[in-house]
Amino acid sequence: MSSAARTDPIILSRDLIRRPSVTPADAGALDVLGTALERLGFACHRMTFEGDGSAPIDNLYARLGERGNGRTFCFAGHSDVVPAGDVAGWSLDPFSGEIADGILYGRGAVDMKSAIASFVEAAERFTAERGRNFGGAISLLITGDEEGIAVNGTKKVLRWMHDKGEVIDACIVGEPTCQAKLGDMVKIGRRGSMSGWLTVFGAQGHVAYPHLADNPIPRLIRTLDALIQRKLDQGTDWFQPSNLEVTTIDVDNPANNVIPAKASAVFNIRFNVRHSSEALIAWIREVCDIHAGPHEIKFQVSGEAFLTEPGQLSEIVAGAIKERTGIQPELSTTGGTSDARFIRSHCEVVEFGLVGRTMHKLNEHVALADIRTLADIYKTVLDRYFTP
Ligand SMILES: [Zn+2]
Repeated sequence: MSSAARTDPIILSRDLIRRPSVTPADAGALDVLGTALERLGFACHRMTFEGDGSAPIDNLYARLGERGNGRTFCFAGHSDVVPAGDVAGWSLDPFSGEIADGILYGRGAVDMKSAIASFVEAAERFTAERGRNFGGAISLLITGDEEGIAVNGTKKVLRWMHDKGEVIDACIVGEPTCQAKLGDMVKIGRRGSMSGWLTVFGAQGHVAYPHLADNPIPRLIRTLDALIQRKLDQGTDWFQPSNLEVTTIDVDNPANNVIPAKASAVFNIRFNVRHSSEALIAWIREVCDIHAGPHEIKFQVSGEAFLTEPGQLSEIVAGAIKERTGIQPELSTTGGTSDARFIRSHCEVVEFGLVGRTMHKLNEHVALADIRTLADIYKTVLDRYFTP
């Protein structure tokens, strides 16, 4: 490995931000990453998945070293970003990767191009010290479809890996997990999320002749009330209580003297490991059958709840964070879903990355010092995982 062209995680973050890879576009982002990885000796596999109601998506899997009887440590994440939003509201061009006063600005600065750059630099420093035959392998699983519907991304890369016999043994997803300071939070699981769309049918008529009509609104109210009244659970050691939230009720009836023909509602449930979406759906169907009368209901499940029990991997990551920042991170399961929900059925997985405060916002930015510290932490994780 030539020392002349070492990876600088800040330059690489910036090069990635300059590729406007708004889902589903790649815009050259994975080429930038692939070039940096190949220079280090990673074998890169690019794969485009398409179909299943989603746009074609570019993905990358790269590995350095041989798993053999050893272990493969995987860094996972996404190169796609959400749109810049109101560009006029940015103080700098969202895709120029400007640096001002020790801060890197741009869409993807925290979510999560700088984390990807930190993966690369950590791997480079680790292999510079230990050589390529360190008794294991390091891999990167990077998708272009995390901010979208995640159909042609991580899930399909994992299937491809399975078919090729590419096994991973432990994984960090580099999502921005920290709240206020780099190092303050590691995610060891996530709640599940599902939504339901319920429409209750009646018969339209004049309010003065209710016996000639059938108002669906009272039945919708009784159904929703039955759903809301149930306390799903009390929470667990690692999860807050599951919660059902009604997000809208729609009747669309402009007249005060007409009984409407239908009424609908949408709700979302964030649930912990005490529930599966399947069991929740069965319960909701039962409630609807009791209270709703003629109705239609459809569901969308974004992910099941999961937990990586605190153990070897979370200890390694928390220890590396403590060593580099002095902070003992909180192990948490809060927040939305991430691609860790797919990886968890393959190996132990935790999430750790930058401070998420500005993610998806105008003027997304990260302190350069945080990028360097994040790379240090990832490097220390590799040191601790691959103890000689
Ligand atoms: Zn993200």
